[in-house]
Amino acid sequence: MDKNSFLQELKKLDTAGKDVKTLYNEISVLAMKCADGGCTAEKRSAYYLSMEFLIGRSFFNNLMELGVLEETRAILGEKGLDINVFEEIEDAALGNGGLGRLAACFLDSAAGLGLPLYGYGIRYKYGLFKQAIKGGFQVELPDDWQRFGDPWSIRREEEKRVIKFADMQVYAVPYDTPVFGKCTNVLRLWQAEGSAEAEKISEYLYPADDTLEGKLLRLRQEYFFSAASVNELLEKHIRKYGKSFDFFPDFNVIQLNDTHPVLAVAEFIRILASEYKVPFVDALNIAKKTFAYTNHTVLPEALEYWSDEMLRSILPEISNVLLKIHLHQRGELEALGCTKEEISEMSIYSSRGYSMANLAVYVGKAVNGVAALHTEILKRDLFKTAYKYYPEKFQNKTNGITQRRWLMLCNAELSALIDKTIGTNWRENIACLSDLKGKTESIADGFIKVKQCKKKQLFDYIRSREGVDIPEHFLVYAQVKRLHEYKRQLMTAFAILEIYNGLKDGSIQNFNPSVFIFGAKSAPAYRRAKGVIKFINEIAAKVNSDPQTCGLLKVVFVQNYNVSYAEKIVSGSDVSLQVSTAGLEASGTGNMKFMMNGSVTCGTMDGANIEIVELAGKENNYIFGAQVDEIERLKAEGYDPNKYLENAAHSRAVNSLTDGTFSDGDTGYFKELYDSLIYGASWHKPDNYFVLYDLQSYVETLIRINRDYSDGKAFAIKQLANTANSAYFSSDRTIKEYARDIWNI
Ligand SMILES: *Cc1c(COP(=O)(O)O)cnc(C)c1O
Repeated sequence: MDKNSFLQELKKLDTAGKDVKTLYNEISVLAMKCADGGCTAEKRSAYYLSMEFLIGRSFFNNLMELGVLEETRAILGEKGLDINVFEEIEDAALGNGGLGRLAACFLDSAAGLGLPLYGYGIRYKYGLFKQAIKGGFQVELPDDWQRFGDPWSIRREEEKRVIKFADMQVYAVPYDTPVFGKCTNVLRLWQAEGSAEAEKISEYLYPADDTLEGKLLRLRQEYFFSAASVNELLEKHIRKYGKSFDFFPDFNVIQLNDTHPVLAVAEFIRILASEYKVPFVDALNIAKKTFAYTNHTVLPEALEYWSDEMLRSILPEISNVLLKIHLHQRGELEALGCTKEEISEMSIYSSRGYSMANLAVYVGKAVNGVAALHTEILKRDLFKTAYKYYPEKFQNKTNGITQRRWLMLCNAELSALIDKTIGTNWRENIACLSDLKGKTESIADGFIKVKQCKKKQLFDYIRSREGVDIPEHFLVYAQVKRLHEYKRQLMTAFAILEIYNGLKDGSIQNFNPSVFIFGAKSAPAYRRAKGVIKFINEIAAKVNSDPQTCGLLKVVFVQNYNVSYAEKIVSGSDVSLQVSTAGLEASGTGNMKFMMNGSVTCGTMDGANIEIVELAGKENNYIFGAQVDEIERLKAEGYDPNKYLENAAHSRAVNSLTDGTFSDGDTGYFKELYDSLIYGASWHKPDNYFVLYDLQSYVETLIRINRDYSDGKAFAIKQLANTANSAYFSSDRTIKEYARDIWNI
């Protein structure tokens, strides 16, 4: 069905008396008819295996991709319906954060560019929990994302397959979701069925993207979707080309999004070797041409190991294959002349179990980091020995975001201003966005109006959802992302306290009224992260109710930060807070969304922040804090955070955790945060993330930004410089690089 038939059908649609859910389903089903065939593969197709796809809301985005959003708005308007009623629809939150959102952006970009990229993942019954804040604490509620139905997917009963574990067999039933663009690609999500036990496998998304939890079930999940996907690809190949598996890599390339799908490698070799009697070494060599691996984190707790005991208990054949790969690798490394230490560093098996990262690096034909600095750290640190022997595998692919959702959809006002200034070519070819570069001064006034309008929309939304009033003229600092110690929301909390205290005692003057907006979910078992949420909410309660300062400073912690909330926050903010400890944020993509929407970055030299300020100019952003080499030096020399408590402002902020200024409701959260900073713990030194080390420069930088904002026009020009230089951070660019350098599609 084409665009015009869709619009005609829509005009005929009888909307009278129907509720939002019914209308949502009817209109979506109509739009589904617009799906065309997949982007044709001249030769090779790429498959993106990912445990997470953080899609968000499909309704508005899909109508936009189909080019019918504005007409739909108008047609519904004529029927007396405001299209915004569909904002009630739940997000599909089948992911935790950046990693899952990246997967969704990649699918969007591939379809937008007409490249054959197909996603494979899990159709969780419940996505990432819904977050409420009660009494300042995070409360986790089940995320029933299909509450309004799931009109965007089609169940393919006839293509279900059996996945075998030692103790049970489960069906993997595919659900296909179209990804609209130049052509329609498909995201295929597997649902586990067959018994109550089976259904558990696809019941919940694990709400931690950085720790291992519920290990056995997690192992089942990873094998379940990896095996279903690989089995299907091999079967398709056999149907088309017979059992000539040597050709498989000519037609297929499988990208492993982090280590979660790495068991696909073992399953692939298992099928070839045991079902089709391909000699093991040949099967391994075919795998080496088929798989590529993306690393997303250097945090040691996020690198997955599976114990042989666990593998033997439910996946004995996989355990055998892993052992064979391990032994083969050992022989290969010995032949290369590696030392014992080098072999043990790269070894697939060790006393900790099987290392999914080492397996992926060994088998992967390409290994990539997700920002320039991150890739350098992989080469010189995490995978340094592998880099020594296989330098050709390593490459960088700096992450990106789709400008369709993250600019055109979430900021139609700025998009219109861009159209007016440089024409509409940038909508087809994002590189053209750079044409804005010479025009930032001439459109600064228009930009200020747009920003004001987006702020008003954001503040209205926050008022309705959180019950907090923010006056329209407030400067907006935003820190929105998963809650984690390395992201240092706690440092922002301390900085706010110092500013608040400075406003009260008069040491900070001429402060432009500002709001700090936080959005973040904590993994349910992550006590310190939950403590930070409570601490920020305690600060918010105090600051917002202080008559002396509430005209100058506000703090809001929004509930249930998700993709749809992000769309409003990134377009309505002035300052993007990206303050991770240098070396620990692999890339970040939130930083890119803010940049594209014209926020300045206040951040550390970490992840993609480095590339952002390189491109948009240091003078248009605010960099502070220790850099990687400094952090490394501090670690080597020994770092003592206690020294920083000699500063009265810092000690007042830090001591407020324990001196009775705030209450954590007897949970012990605040004492734990305090101890982690001042005494450390059995597994880490005091202030592991260098919060106190960077605090002084952070506060100064926040205040410097505030002063600069006094010259509204100069500030708007800085913000616009960020938009004008953001084309590089489009996932269209990233996907083109993957397609050229790794996938060859
Ligand atoms: C973009 C995005 C993220 C990733 O944010 P970072 O700041 O890069 O960690 C997480 N959650 C949601 C909902 C997002 O849209």
